[in-house]
Amino acid sequence: MRTIVLILLVGQLLYSCKTEEQENNRPNFIFIMADDHANRTISAYDGTINRTPNIDRLADEGAIFTQSFCANSICGPSRATILTGKHSHKNGITGNGAPWDGSQMLFPRILKNAGYTTALIGKWHLNSLPGDEFNYSKVLTGAGKQGFYYNPDFCINGKDTVTQQGYSTDIIADESLQWLKENSTGEKPFMLFVQFKAAHVPRMPALRFLSRYINDTIPEPKTFFDDYKTRSHYATDVNFKINKYRSLPKDPSGNIYLKRMTDEQLKAYHAVIDPQDEAFFKMKKAGLLDGDKMKSYTYQRFIKDYIRVVDGIDENVGRLLSWLDKNEKLKENTVVIYCSDQSYFTGEHGYAEKRLMYEEAMKMPFLIRYPKMIKAGSRIKSMIQNIDYAPTVLDLAGVEIPDEMQGESFKPILEGNRPENWRKSVYYHYYDHGRHKVGRHDGVRTKRYKLIHFYTDDIWEMYDLKDDPNELNNLYGNPSYNSEIEKLKKELKKLQHKYDVPDWVYKPPYVSFKGINNTIIPKQ
Ligand code: CA
Repeated sequence: MRTIVLILLVGQLLYSCKTEEQENNRPNFIFIMADDHANRTISAYDGTINRTPNIDRLADEGAIFTQSFCANSICGPSRATILTGKHSHKNGITGNGAPWDGSQMLFPRILKNAGYTTALIGKWHLNSLPGDEFNYSKVLTGAGKQGFYYNPDFCINGKDTVTQQGYSTDIIADESLQWLKENSTGEKPFMLFVQFKAAHVPRMPALRFLSRYINDTIPEPKTFFDDYKTRSHYATDVNFKINKYRSLPKDPSGNIYLKRMTDEQLKAYHAVIDPQDEAFFKMKKAGLLDGDKMKSYTYQRFIKDYIRVVDGIDENVGRLLSWLDKNEKLKENTVVIYCSDQSYFTGEHGYAEKRLMYEEAMKMPFLIRYPKMIKAGSRIKSMIQNIDYAPTVLDLAGVEIPDEMQGESFKPILEGNRPENWRKSVYYHYYDHGRHKVGRHDGVRTKRYKLIHFYTDDIWEMYDLKDDPNELNNLYGNPSYNSEIEKLKKELKKLQHKYDVPDWVYKPPYVSFKGINNTIIPKQ
């Protein structure tokens, strides 16, 4: 009898030791998110126009997902989906103007309740401030919650607002490093969200990058001069085409971004931009920028600023990774993720924006390193979506995933064991009807095909992504694709049902207005 009791006690002891060891080995997370960072400006994805050696390290030492998508391609909705693991109609953030209910289920709060220290530094962009889901928050404020590139304002723990001198991407990395130093003692696991404002408009590069690429010619995307034939009127109507360069205002007083620069910063800025603007006016006067030439000129100015701003992100990602390099044990046990709230049209179809369900906007860069689990150099084709991030992080942390989350954990994929029944299609729904003249639409993307429904006026588009990866040839209505279209329609219905999209969203009035042209979904 005594022996049995002893065995039981030893067993119990071993079990509790194991549990404690598991507790101590729970991974830390550094979740780095940029804003509007186009996949093709990360060299691990593309590499034809710029290099991002530091972001690429995550792909080289971990995994890069080539089929990663968002559920609704704009800032607020993507962020809300990441935090909740739910589609927009479930978390209430259908558009940037929708009110944010931070008391709903958020995965940082679940982690915190499970013993993690949680913090968010950088861009937040939801319409109420972070709350008790974070032990610490320091978020950009001002410029309509977008924040400023130069000398930005931050709100700390939902209370005090401070202005910090310097460049937004640098400051967010400085603050993150400081927080990491103080919170990586090993007493508790941590999750830090590092969220850059870059590469969102108005793209203002750091002074040290302003002259970079100045004499280069960056190749235009293949679809830059798209004629939009075969597609819905929305493809033509949208108002985010690259077509007219706007010079830097000489007088900063009417410009909220320039007005806050110091005299020294402004002087350095003008010293680089003004000679280019003078050359622009001369060329324009001489008739050298008529028609398509103006479009091409504008693209050069646009894309160079874009990759300069990305250079600032990459350099600061490098600083965070170098800091981790100094502590091998911490590095081994820390999951580092790099993503953006969505990818971005950087000239494809002549556009500079997101929102539409076309590939460039629907995709999301996603790179992840976790030396303990992920085989270095993995290039993963499985379809993932931003609804999956919350369940995946919880799964990696060994925390139970709430049933109400709509995403799936892709931990098995990270371990190299893709489940047999892993999703074969993703659901997309854009609600912000009329904004930038984009119509409301939902749709389905499978490995090969995409079906888009602009349901407010019942217009369909269908693409064969294998034969037409640039989505130039809308096949909807083409009789030889009828059976494929029917299959896609069935799949779309299935996903609408699976994710519990309410019927009323498809019925007029499609929008309600609250000051700005944003959709508000009433609380249910
Ligand atoms: Ca964004």
